[in-house]
Amino acid sequence: MENKRLIPILCVLPVVALLVGGGAAYIGNRTGPSTLPQEIAAQTTPAPTAAPTVQQSAAPEEEAGALRESVNQDTKIVLEKKFIQCGHTVEKTLPQQSYAGMTENELAKAASPAKVESFSAKKVILSQESEGYCPDHAKLQWKDDAVEILCPNEEGQLVLKKKLELSLELMPKEVREELEQGILFGSLDEVEQWLEDIAS
Ligand SMILES: [Zn+2]
Repeated sequence: MENKRLIPILCVLPVVALLVGGGAAYIGNRTGPSTLPQEIAAQTTPAPTAAPTVQQSAAPEEEAGALRESVNQDTKIVLEKKFIQCGHTVEKTLPQQSYAGMTENELAKAASPAKVESFSAKKVILSQESEGYCPDHAKLQWKDDAVEILCPNEEGQLVLKKKLELSLELMPKEVREELEQGILFGSLDEVEQWLEDIAS
């Protein structure tokens, strides 16, 4: 007997819940906006549609912003040039005008064969390997009956800078042999020092 009574109650409960819930929701929908002042209602209405689009586009826009970061007049551009022959790396600041307004990709193309090691609007570091010697070096060699001073050019190749009025006959044999082979120095100062020592 009790079971028979329970079943209808169980069946009715969800229906009542639906009616109450639905009714409340219906009333809420009807009364909600109408109780708000018109202005607030107008402001809140577009918000739900606007918010998702902002959230969706926020991340891509930030990424695009980073990619779009470009060289400006305050960007410091440093080229680290490594010379293979002597192993020295020479830092050189490049004029940013040559790369003004460029993004990382554009700069990478323009600066080739130098590679972009790091890139920001504040500082760009480029690196490049070069055959030959860094600009510090100098070489003395005996050639064509004269002592020549060679210095590295832009590409690090040793090229003639000056011919010296020196008589090999007055020099010790081992020095002459050294000169015929060529003597590499770390700087022009070292060359001068060496020549002074020879003369004394
Ligand atoms: Zn060097």
